Amino acid sequence: MSALAPPTDGLGRPLGVLRLSLTARCNLACPYCLPDGQEPAGLLSLEQRLRVVETAVALGAHSLRLTGGEPLLHPQLESMLEAVQPLRMQGLRDIALTSNGTLLNANRARALRAAGLDRITLSLDGADGASVARMAGLRDPSAGERTLDAVLAAIGHAREAGFDPAAGALKLNAVIQRGRNDDQLLPLAELCRGQGLELRLIEYMDVGNRNGWSPAEVVSASEMVERIDARWPLETIGRDPHGTAHRWRYRDRTGGIAVVASVSQPFCGDCNRLRVTADGVAYTCLFAAPSSGLDLKPWLHPTGDPTGLRQALAHLWRGRHDRYSEERQTSAGGRNHAEMAYLGG
Ligand code: SAM
Ligand code: SF4
Repeated sequence: MSALAPPTDGLGRPLGVLRLSLTARCNLACPYCLPDGQEPAGLLSLEQRLRVVETAVALGAHSLRLTGGEPLLHPQLESMLEAVQPLRMQGLRDIALTSNGTLLNANRARALRAAGLDRITLSLDGADGASVARMAGLRDPSAGERTLDAVLAAIGHAREAGFDPAAGALKLNAVIQRGRNDDQLLPLAELCRGQGLELRLIEYMDVGNRNGWSPAEVVSASEMVERIDARWPLETIGRDPHGTAHRWRYRDRTGGIAVVASVSQPFCGDCNRLRVTADGVAYTCLFAAPSSGLDLKPWLHPTGDPTGLRQALAHLWRGRHDRYSEERQTSAGGRNHAEMAYLGG
């Protein structure tokens, strides 16, 4: 294979998606994620991030997801979106954002749309104040109520700004943890059905080392589907190639749900995702050990050789053999993982 051809990894998987974290900070402290209160040293500049995106697109990435920490905390989010637009001519087809939504007011939603954002996924783990407070690390139910109101308002702002749920441009993520918010499955499904939103139910994952993850707290995707199907019958759509979610639609044609079964039904076999942290460290797996990241900063100096970054990323991708979620099923686990808010989900 030529050095310039888009690489496939050691298991034959192409690069398709770049998940770029803009900040490791967050204005919430969800106990299953537990972000750092501060940024790592060596945050990338907008110009450096743009070079990372350009290079990933040149290596085959067609989709960019901006994440964090909380990406709406980043003052240059809109500038970043504007700066990557020319890459649509090079093969970038889809630009998405994952956010907790608490800072998404009407102006910001319009600004994101105007800057060229295609899709937003908002995260919300409960449909009442007490559940939201518990899952978001807030001190009391009234703080949870205010957060819930802010996210519900954000859904409206995003819709009004042109992010159409019917076109897949607005979705809701919820992490479900047994004993903490599994009673919210039906309320969240009802909330999303009422809004025409796809609810993406995420199995609680062993990302990072701080959340005290235990398999007993995982509600499997099949259990989640069963419980919703018993109330509102579902039929399967399936998982898109390289996708993370198995999608289901309600038989009454009122929309659908998706389940991300990273623990119970891993989808490593066609994983096409590269992750780059806010300080420019590249990881090829959500469950990677901190030491396995490749620091891209040596190739991101303003005077650096522009082909160096491409060679470094291509080399990283070609050498990739990650299939941690599949391996977790046959081993006791216990690996040291980089933190979720650092990696960006
Ligand atoms: N702050 C933004 C948000 O919450 O949407 C973006 C970053 S957050 C790390 C991205 C996604 O990862 C969120 O939907 C969050 O719920 C999910 N997440 C975080 N920790 C998780 C865990 N341990 N298991 C499963 N999903 C997790
Ligand atoms: Fe913040 Fe998102 Fe992590 Fe919650 S999941 S603490 S909102 S980064």
